[in-house]
Amino acid sequence: MQKDPFPKFKALLKKSNDIVIVTHYNPDGDAMGSSLALYNYLIKTEKNVTVITPNDYPDFLHWLPGNKKVIAFNTHQKKAAALIAKSDLIFTLDFNNYSRLEGLGELLKNYTGKTILIDHHQQPDTYATLMYHDVKACSTCELIYEFIVGLGGKKLIDKDIASCLYTGIMTDTGSFRFDSVTPTTHHILAHLLETGIVPSDIHSAVYDTYSESRVRLLGYCLTEKMVVIPEMQTAYMSLTEKELSRFQHKKGDTEGIVNYPFSIKGITFCAFFSEGEGKVKISFRSKGKFDVNQFARKYFNGGGHINAAGGRGNVSDIEVTIKEFLALLPQYKKEILKK
Ligand code: 5GP
Ligand code: MN
Repeated sequence: MQKDPFPKFKALLKKSNDIVIVTHYNPDGDAMGSSLALYNYLIKTEKNVTVITPNDYPDFLHWLPGNKKVIAFNTHQKKAAALIAKSDLIFTLDFNNYSRLEGLGELLKNYTGKTILIDHHQQPDTYATLMYHDVKACSTCELIYEFIVGLGGKKLIDKDIASCLYTGIMTDTGSFRFDSVTPTTHHILAHLLETGIVPSDIHSAVYDTYSESRVRLLGYCLTEKMVVIPEMQTAYMSLTEKELSRFQHKKGDTEGIVNYPFSIKGITFCAFFSEGEGKVKISFRSKGKFDVNQFARKYFNGGGHINAAGGRGNVSDIEVTIKEFLALLPQYKKEILKK
């Protein structure tokens, strides 16, 4: 990242009044936390701001301040298109190529206004007018905090903005335990706590809202569907559409399941496959050197971070996708086993 990028950001913001913030398909805690933190900050600076998501997001993020103003593109296409056409600046948060937007990406590809990308994923595309990008940041929320501070807005960080930022940092770091967490992260968290947010309330609002069927789905998945391959230090799970509906699956219900096999001693690579919308969605997680961003990019139309990435199957058949995955494992044995 260049030394002081803020004069350019300040100049562009000064010229922009109608601003749209977009984030990736199936928004998670960091996507919504970063979008709504920036939204709450920008409205305090007298801008007209709208957050547009490609589609809906889980109920456990609906308490975030500003949530009611969010527009989902899949259900409000005309309104979203009009807002984008009218805007002079678009922020793209927590993703870095338009394929992560599904249908909304087509609108943005033809956009003639200015764009600012703020993100922490590997290998960003170069569509943006300006970028604030750092793969070392634990979350996009960490970057949004630095961005607001860089613009001179530290004093405007109130409880609402802090709640959003805390949520994104918490959800993207496995509650502050991943290697991406640094002293800087904790300095930021300390400031966020000073605004009066209550960490246990935020944790509960995100994690203690499961339905009974979601907990049973997790139990089923671990008992019946987890496959452990000890010699590859790998475990994977899969859920078909039929299995998901048996447990009254709702958006977000499978989030985080991929990580459970890491509790088994020695496991360093986990994968999770699920059917939906005619596709097979895949999550990959690794510990140590094995780069799942490259793996997801190369074989499964995806990407993400070195230790956390996602993608989708090349075919809509989940069994075929799992077979493809299993056939790839032997050639990566060395990387998967390396500390
Ligand atoms: P998850 O497995 O939780 O859906 O995603 C893990 C990480 O990979 C997240 O940072 C997410 O943004 C990224 N990711 C998930 N799916 C995709 C995808 O299809 N393409 C790319 N480029 N990144 C993805
Ligand atoms: Mn993120």
